[in-house]
Amino acid sequence: KKPIVALVGRPNVGKSTLFNRMSGTQDAIVDDVPGTTRDRLFGHAEWCGVEFDIVDTGGIDPDFSKQNTPLSIGSSEFISEIRSQALIAVKEADVVLFLVDAISGVTLADREIAEILRKSQKIVDGVEKPPVLLVVNKADSSRQRNLVAEFYELGMGEPFPISAIHGTETGDMLDALIQLF
Ligand code: GDP
Ligand code: MG
Repeated sequence: KKPIVALVGRPNVGKSTLFNRMSGTQDAIVDDVPGTTRDRLFGHAEWCGVEFDIVDTGGIDPDFSKQNTPLSIGSSEFISEIRSQALIAVKEADVVLFLVDAISGVTLADREIAEILRKSQKIVDGVEKPPVLLVVNKADSSRQRNLVAEFYELGMGEPFPISAIHGTETGDMLDALIQLF
């Protein structure tokens, strides 16, 4: 059975873009519009000969997808959506890729998701399961890549900068990912 990697993160961080990049498809709709399916999308990916399945968890109400600000974080609906997305991911995945956005920096929604992920992990043989890899997307320039240290505050270990849109800088992240299988 191939490992399952779930993409988790607040709306607009680039989950669907990364899904398409890693699966070599255009199956995930980028820049969600109202009416977009809320179903999870499965795809196949491979790195250095290691095959795995990826899941674009989607799941967040499309009405929230345009809201890049933390303003909606206070709404119980938003919280329950991101919670159920994160819980499903943690239950089904062997590894969680937790996406955040280098351009916006750390947001309240990111902190909320980090907290939910942490609380849902189980300790198996002294290590947290599933492991979470912190991926800082939209690190398109070297300037942005140099700013990723601020994401250490999420308490999810080393942040890996990538640019899903350009497909650059993903090697280190993928190397780290397959180590977690
Ligand atoms: P999702 O809501 O997390 O699935 O995010 P999407 O994949 O739909 O992307 C949201 C927006 O961010 C879209 O306008 C993408 O084109 C843009 N985006 C995704 N990846 C990158 C990236 O690496 N760099 C930049 N600058 N924009 C990106
Ligand atoms: Mg999406």
